[in-house]
Amino acid sequence: MNTISIIIPAYNEEANISLIYESIKKEFTKLAYDFEICFINDASTDNTLEEMKQLAVKTTKVKFISFSRNFGKEAALLAGLQHANGRAVIIMDADLQHPPSLIPKLLKGYEEGFDQVIARRNRNGEKAVKRWLSSSYYRLVNHIVDVELEDGVGDFRLLSEKAVQAVLSLNEGQRFSKGLFSWIGMNQKIIDYNNVLRENGETKWSFSKLLNYGLDGFISFNNRPLRICFYSGAVVLCLALIYSAITFVQILQNGIEVPGYFTIITAVLILGGIQLVSLGVIGEYIGRIYYETKKRPPYLIQETNFMNGAQYEKNK
Ligand code: UDP
Ligand code: MG
Repeated sequence: MNTISIIIPAYNEEANISLIYESIKKEFTKLAYDFEICFINDASTDNTLEEMKQLAVKTTKVKFISFSRNFGKEAALLAGLQHANGRAVIIMDADLQHPPSLIPKLLKGYEEGFDQVIARRNRNGEKAVKRWLSSSYYRLVNHIVDVELEDGVGDFRLLSEKAVQAVLSLNEGQRFSKGLFSWIGMNQKIIDYNNVLRENGETKWSFSKLLNYGLDGFISFNNRPLRICFYSGAVVLCLALIYSAITFVQILQNGIEVPGYFTIITAVLILGGIQLVSLGVIGEYIGRIYYETKKRPPYLIQETNFMNGAQYEKNK
């Protein structure tokens, strides 16, 4: 029987670990596949790790990797992909917002020969403002980046062995998985499902984290944002030159009039704004170069119950 690896990053999800294990187990009793779950504990501050350990004692189907500190979901996903042994991999959240009942459909897509079977949610039950903000964001970002990012499409998906290899071959440290999955392309199938709201624990996405994630989407794929800075700077410069030429001619004709506070202040503010935004964008790229040149590992493992595929007792 082929084994399917389920990768589940978890940060403070104590109430969800055994729930998600049970529901995945239930799904697989109906299927002709074996499964292993690879939990990644992103240095939770609650009992998430203990929950994982208890499961790992009960069953060999559960592996866990525990990070030395909170490295974020992206790093957790990478660790999962690197340590999964299954033929295909399914990525899902720990909070049951990615319903395990979709697993049979994902596997059906896999059997049909798709390399990526993508679960896409609608935004039922979410606030109108949030829906509008996210759909506008995707419309904007898709004009700028090379890869297609879609609203409602996240990390919840099945990847074939080939797709996993492809994702792992992209060795950038600053990862934006949603874009990487899109970048690798391959045969894709989309499965729609209804949005599920979180029942236990809290979302880890504060507004500022969401903003930063949104910015990552813009900056991670090409240098078009730098171009946009260049062109908007150029347009403003042209306008400023034309304006000063006109004013200069007027001064020659009429002499100096009362200096216009309004025009000066708007010019200063607009130019200042554009310069700051452009500097920020350039800074983002330089920041990325800085991190990439350091070549730091994307995560560090504190503890796990397996090594090189084999189960083993706590690393002392
Ligand atoms: N997560 C993680 N590290 C973090 C934040 C979140 O591993 O620093 C995990 C979290 O436990 C969950 C998944 O990433 O399994 C998605 O997080 P969340 O549910 O908070 O995001 P949302 O569903 O609100 O987008
Ligand atoms: Mg969630």
